Amino acid sequence: MKKEFYKSVGFKLSILTIIILLSLFTSAFMFNSQIDKMKKRIDYIYFGNYIPVLKLHTLDDLYEDLIVCMKKNKKCNKSPFFKKIKKEWNYYNNSYKADEERKVVDSVNKDIQKSLSSKAKISTYKDILKKIDFLKEHEKKVAYKKRREFLKEYSSMKNYLFYNMIILLFVSFIFISLIIYSIIKKDNQLKILTKKYKLESITDGMTKLYNRKYFDKIFDNMPFISNANNWESAFVILDIDFFKQYNDTYGHDMGDITLKSVANSLQSYFNREYEYVFRLGGEEFGVILFDIDEEILKQCLADVNKNIESLNIEHKNSKISNVVTISIGAVIYEANTYISCNRLYKMADESLYRSKENGRNQYTIYNEEVK
Ligand code: GH3
Ligand code: MG
Ligand code: MG
Repeated sequence: MKKEFYKSVGFKLSILTIIILLSLFTSAFMFNSQIDKMKKRIDYIYFGNYIPVLKLHTLDDLYEDLIVCMKKNKKCNKSPFFKKIKKEWNYYNNSYKADEERKVVDSVNKDIQKSLSSKAKISTYKDILKKIDFLKEHEKKVAYKKRREFLKEYSSMKNYLFYNMIILLFVSFIFISLIIYSIIKKDNQLKILTKKYKLESITDGMTKLYNRKYFDKIFDNMPFISNANNWESAFVILDIDFFKQYNDTYGHDMGDITLKSVANSLQSYFNREYEYVFRLGGEEFGVILFDIDEEILKQCLADVNKNIESLNIEHKNSKISNVVTISIGAVIYEANTYISCNRLYKMADESLYRSKENGRNQYTIYNEEVK
C-alpha cells in the first residue's frame, strides 16, 4: 500500500524533475549551438578578412622599403626583402578566396613572382604597390560586408535565443505550477478536515481508531474530495466473523482484546496519509482510501484477510476456521460519478453480505453481480 500511494506523488515529482532537466538541457543545447555558430563567424572575420588585410599592409611596407633602399643604394641587398615578401604573400595567396577573387589574386601573383627577380626595377615595384592597394580596398569592402552580415545574424540569433528561452520558461512554469497545485490541493482539503476536529473527540476509546462521528465527516466528503482531485477512492467495511460465538466462548473481556488486536492490525496496515481506518460500531470497521485503483485495492484486501488470519487468535467455535477471521465488502467511487454516500454505504454493505454468504474470510468489491 505504502509504495502504491507514493507512486502518485512520486510520479508527479519525477515528471517535475524531468521537466526541469529537459528545460535545462534544451537551453544549454540551444545556447551552445548558437555560441558555436557565433564563434565560427568571428573566426571567419578574423582569419578570413582581418589577417589578409594585415598581410597586404606588410607587403606594402616591404615594397616601399625596397624602393627606398634601391634609391639610396644601387647595390641594395634585395634578398632579405624578397624572403619576407614571399612569406607574407604566400600567406595571403593561400587564404580562402572566392572564384572571382581568385582570378584577380592569381594575376597579381604572377606580377609578384616576376618582381622577385634581381633584375626587377623600381617601376615594377611601384606597379605592384598599386595592385596591392587595389587588393587592400577590395578586402576592406569584403570585410565591411561580412561585418554587416555578422551583426545582422548576431541580432537575429540573440532574438531567437531570447524568445526560445521565454517560451521554454513559460511552458515549464505552467507544467510545474500544475503539478505543484495538484500536490498542494490534496493536502489542503484533507488537512482542513483533520484540523477541524480535535483528536480525542474523533477517537474510539477502546480501539484508538477514528470513531463513527469522524467517519461520518470524512465519508460525507469522500465524493467531493475524489471529484476535486480526480481520484478513484474506496470505501471498505470489515466485519469479524462469528464474533458473537467468540464472546460466548472466550468471554467479553477476551472479545475486547481481540477487537483491539484486529484494530491494531488494520491501523498498522493502512497507516499512510489519505488512508483512514474507523470503528464503525461493535465488531465492524470501516476504511476510506483516497487515490487508489482496483488492482491495488484487491491486493490490500487480500493482505488484510491474510493479516487477520495470521494474528492466529484461536476461535474454536467459528464455523469456517479455527482462528479469528474477517469478512470484507468494498466499493470504488470513480471521480465525478456523483453516487450519494448513502448509496455507497449500501453498496459496500451488500458486498460484505456477499462475502459472508460466500463463506466468510474473504473480500468482495461491489460490481454488477453483487447487485
Ligand atoms: P457474522 O459472522 O455474521 O458477522 O456473525 P457475528 O456473530 O460476528 O455477528 P453479530 O452481529 O451477530 O454479532 C456481533 C457481536 O459482536 C455481538 C456483540 O456481542 C459483539 N460485540 C459488539 N461490540 C462489542 C464490544 O465492544 N466488545 C465485545 N467483546 N463484543 C462486542
Ligand atoms: Mg460479525
Ligand atoms: Mg456485525
